[in-house]
Amino acid sequence: MTVQCCKCKRVRANGKWRHVTGGLDEPVSHTYCPRCEERLRVEMFSSLASQCPLVGALKLDELLIRTASS
Ligand SMILES: [Zn+2]
Repeated sequence: MTVQCCKCKRVRANGKWRHVTGGLDEPVSHTYCPRCEERLRVEMFSSLASQCPLVGALKLDELLIRTASS
């Protein structure tokens, strides 16, 4: 079973995410790679934060700093 990121289309092989050229023959299971998962979490948090601007802005800063340093 091939595991593919449904956002950036990279495929996981031997624990690493890499781009593939051409089609995939095997059955594909779609998920998010760690990078897109993190990005999605930030996006989700931003939309949540927009409903609660004061708390959200502070937390989002922390989240972005953590993401940038990892
Ligand atoms: Zn991805």
